[in-house]
Amino acid sequence: MVLSAKYGKEIADGLIQTIQLNKDYLSEIDGKIGDGDHGINMNKGFTMCRERLEGQSPSVSEAFAIISQTLMEDIGGSMGPLYGVLFEGMSMASEGREAIAAEDFAQMLSAAVEGVMEIGSAQVGDKTLLDTLVPAKDAFADSLAAGHGFDECLSAMKEAASAGWRSTENMVAKIGRASRLGERSRGVLDAGATSCYLLLTALADSILPLLT
Ligand SMILES: [Mg+2]
Repeated sequence: MVLSAKYGKEIADGLIQTIQLNKDYLSEIDGKIGDGDHGINMNKGFTMCRERLEGQSPSVSEAFAIISQTLMEDIGGSMGPLYGVLFEGMSMASEGREAIAAEDFAQMLSAAVEGVMEIGSAQVGDKTLLDTLVPAKDAFADSLAAGHGFDECLSAMKEAASAGWRSTENMVAKIGRASRLGERSRGVLDAGATSCYLLLTALADSILPLLT
């Protein structure tokens, strides 16, 4: 079971659409313990990606590179660079491949985690997007190691992303603006963990019907 690398546009469209649909929700969550701009920033970045992808047929790697560059350079806030390196890792790990197998996708997720961990000091448990991304990456790798197919690995990734995202509600923020609130940051979901959950879910949902 593989994903042909030619589906960059389809994969990107799924990501763009989920951010556009959830922009108000993301800003609402960010507004509880942050400055309430996460949905606006993400929507701005992903809508610019849609314009840049217009009329193009990028590979999966090329599509991730365009998303990475746009988020890194053109959106405000701390999340732009973080998602920039996340998608850069995914782009580089799939560069030059004609087809992406589950093993390749596992490497793409690892590269995404490495990218985010390299530029920030956040660890799992600090109430950030890593609380979604790391368990999702691990679940995919564990499912693959257990001998499951690409589709089952993606389902395992989605489940873990959801559980990881929801786990941020009970965490105290250790990084960024929300960390100044200390204990008062508990009881609210993290905005970055939320967008990361939405993006990983959209990614899996776009890939699943395209696997051959
Ligand atoms: Mg914000």
